[in-house]
Amino acid sequence: MQPRNHRAAARSVSTLCAVGAGVAVLTAPLQHEVPGSGMVAAGGLIALVVAFGVLARRFDERHRLGWALGPLAGVVALTAIDLLTQDSGVSAQVFFLFPALYGASQLRPPGAAVITGASVAGELVVVLSQLPAREALVDALYVTTALITTAVLLAVASERHARTVAQLELMATVDPLTGLFTRRVLDEAATAKLSDVSSGAGTALVLIDIDHFKTVNDEHGHPAGDEVLIQLAALLLRHSRPTDVVCRLGGDEVAVLLPGCGLEAAVARAEEILAAVRSQPFVITGGAELTISISLGCAHMPTHGDDLRSLYAAADAALYEAKQAGRGRVGSTERLADAG
Ligand code: GH3
Ligand code: MG
Repeated sequence: MQPRNHRAAARSVSTLCAVGAGVAVLTAPLQHEVPGSGMVAAGGLIALVVAFGVLARRFDERHRLGWALGPLAGVVALTAIDLLTQDSGVSAQVFFLFPALYGASQLRPPGAAVITGASVAGELVVVLSQLPAREALVDALYVTTALITTAVLLAVASERHARTVAQLELMATVDPLTGLFTRRVLDEAATAKLSDVSSGAGTALVLIDIDHFKTVNDEHGHPAGDEVLIQLAALLLRHSRPTDVVCRLGGDEVAVLLPGCGLEAAVARAEEILAAVRSQPFVITGGAELTISISLGCAHMPTHGDDLRSLYAAADAALYEAKQAGRGRVGSTERLADAG
């Protein structure tokens, strides 16, 4: 019964409550035959629906009970309003679409089925208790068919939409070749760390670039280059800690964000990675063993600046220095820090 997206669900609940209550209030003066006591009780229930709609705007994932029971309570309120106003006409029955629309558009299929079932039950109570059997049966058949068909079509479309969104989110966060995170994840994690003033040791960034990777592609083929990238990614994950964010920036460039890590510790981690890559044979399809060399550049927040751009720039400068100094080494970030 918990919605996929609490914000969208809150908007949808409050809109449906406002529209339903608004129409009921506007048409109330036209309902002459309804006894006054019934109108007063129904008015009280409509006020409760409006209050729930207003409250629902503030609902989030913490309000589990509200999400579970609110829509079902809505169906009960609708049924009670129809009975109190002795209304079994189309005006009474049509609003049973509202909870079903909510369920089909905002909940996963089991939740949508529960709400649609409750709406069907409410409709049956309203018509069977107020209309002659034959008329009740015809109305119930029309309304429940429309209700279930609408709910099923909407639920199928919503599921498809949710799957597409999940796929797009995966594509935006995971590199398909290596399985490492994408730059977007690193940026978000680094920005979160930047705004977290409590992280005492600061945050370090290690940029890693394969040396002469074009030669690997040229001599062994692009697929072999891909295998090297995959094996390097696996090695980096083996040498990472749960809090590290390992991501492929693009091409043969990888970055490791080390939250809560000082500059010296980051340089030591970079040296460890360098040694691990040096000692690991990269075996490609066909059995050839390649020795891969990498260059690394370390930077640290706040040592090299206090924003993401300065962190990248400092790590990039350190990596450039490592390349210039002959490759296969960690950039001399301490000197950069001293200069800064
Ligand atoms: P350097 O030591 O200066 O880094 O030299 P390099 O040859 O590694 O040059 P650079 O890092 O600029 O080039 C990266 C190369 O990586 C260029 C491109 O052919 C190759 N590359 C980029 N993406 C992929 C990929 O997904 N798979 C493979 N196999 N190669 C890639
Ligand atoms: Mg390279």
